Amino acid sequence: MSEDFPKTEVEFDRRFHREQACLDYLFQLRWPEGFICPDCGHAEYWKSARDLYLCRKCQKQISVTAGTIFHGVKKPLTLWFKALWWFSTRKSGVNAVALQESLGLGSYRTAWCWLQKLRTCTIFPDRKPLAGQVEADEFYLGGERSGKRGRGAEHKCKVALAVERQGRKLGRLRLQVIADCGSAQLLPFVKDNVVAGSQITTDGWNGYNGLESDFIHHRVLSAQSEDKESVLPGAHLVISLVKRVILGTFQGRFDPQYLQRYLDEYVFRFNRRTSKTPGKRFWRMMQQAVCSPPMANRQLRLAAT
Ligand SMILES: [Zn+2]
Repeated sequence: MSEDFPKTEVEFDRRFHREQACLDYLFQLRWPEGFICPDCGHAEYWKSARDLYLCRKCQKQISVTAGTIFHGVKKPLTLWFKALWWFSTRKSGVNAVALQESLGLGSYRTAWCWLQKLRTCTIFPDRKPLAGQVEADEFYLGGERSGKRGRGAEHKCKVALAVERQGRKLGRLRLQVIADCGSAQLLPFVKDNVVAGSQITTDGWNGYNGLESDFIHHRVLSAQSEDKESVLPGAHLVISLVKRVILGTFQGRFDPQYLQRYLDEYVFRFNRRTSKTPGKRFWRMMQQAVCSPPMANRQLRLAAT
């Protein structure tokens, strides 16, 4: 598919200030080769109202937003596009207060729900697994004090981490909430996210026993298990960055059921931190938005009540 996205905010505003332009863009993303009926595969259609397409063969009526995160939204698509533009192109994204004020949304809760929907479009199923030199580690978030394995850790959220090392630089990142720090959680996480045969560095934790069968496994043992900085410098840096963002944004209080989405957003930004084309992030998220199942607002609102 050809890459088609605004390169600057000025270009964005010029292009997407009308509802029809947004609908046309969604149509192009959904059916780059032309309309195809999702039920019978027929290519001919009648166009009825605004965004309704009627299959000439099976008569099915299809809205261009059906099957996308925009299905059934009440606010104009121009506002949703603007929200997605800010979310995807700004270095630190956009928070619910700013979104509510800038777009004139009715409530903080509405803005919060919008952001939750947008976060579901930050992970792409076709992303390539990590490769080369990779550091793997796990850490805790939330509770009274975030830290490493230790007393009181049972009330905190556990997160598995894998990050590529390219010399002194960091490559791509993966973060996943895990139920515990045992090998039943850690081994599948590494195997799902890293190409077999890669070099994995971990600390001496026995949860990584067994990586040897699929990877070249380096264990770095330090005299002090808390001495992360010298043992796994990449993982150490990422952990401190994630804590600063997540705990800073939510003052340490977040609903654990939404933590994975916050981590997904973090990974989305981290893995594109050096990108010179912010508009491309908008395009990638839009691609994801048109194939995301709509989410029930009720489900989204649980944590806001
Ligand atoms: Zn049809």
